[in-house]
Amino acid sequence: MKLTALGTGSAFEGMCHNASHLLNDELLVDAGAPVPYLLRRASGQTAPRYILITHFHGDHTGNLPVTLGLIATAARNVPTHIIGPVGIGEFTERLVSTVYGHRFWIRMLEECGLLFQEVDDAATVTFGSWTCRGVALSHSLGPSVGYLLENSGDSVSLGITGDTAMCAGLTRLASMSDVLLTECSFLHPPALFGHLSTADIAELVHDHPTTRILLAHYGAVPHVKGALTLHDGMTLHLTEQLLGEKWRVSQRPHLHQPD
Ligand SMILES: [Zn+2]
Repeated sequence: MKLTALGTGSAFEGMCHNASHLLNDELLVDAGAPVPYLLRRASGQTAPRYILITHFHGDHTGNLPVTLGLIATAARNVPTHIIGPVGIGEFTERLVSTVYGHRFWIRMLEECGLLFQEVDDAATVTFGSWTCRGVALSHSLGPSVGYLLENSGDSVSLGITGDTAMCAGLTRLASMSDVLLTECSFLHPPALFGHLSTADIAELVHDHPTTRILLAHYGAVPHVKGALTLHDGMTLHLTEQLLGEKWRVSQRPHLHQPD
């Protein structure tokens, strides 16, 4: 599974772009970063085929309207799936209508062929070659959903969260995932407003020794033994061979691995 980090920054610190990741050049997870520009730069892609939203905060959805505009102008005549928490369709309509007007929204519906799929806890949806299972997380704004993503062409599963505090859902997702991409908003505890700190990540690493943990959504670069920190623009190919290796800085120069 190919993972490209488009935005690894937390909401307000300006450290990096806001939250967005691209999987296999076709599945966009959250739309906080300037997606149209970054997609072209990262993969030469003009538009994602699938969009997955973790929750409705602006640093995860603020660029959704222009991303839909990008898809509309690509005029590719295939449906665009938008998968997200309960209310994803109403939220997207409200957002797009507010910033571009209702006529634009109608055009988006028609030209992007938008198909909405809601996911809540333990629900599974399929789209293309993807299977996506929802896990309810705990954040300051509900609903916030994490996803276990599997692709029929890949042998490695990826758990991905938006924003979350330590909670039962996060533990479940970490247990199910070969690789877990999660947030690390705070360098030091306490993690406020429904987020994680480096101390929480250290606990996850300890409790899930067979799960590879990747970090994003930070305001200052987190260093946690056993976890790898992503940076804007980097790409990882998640394979069984990679999971069996010791991850070292020398192999992936953009990654931080303190020992
Ligand atoms: Zn956020």
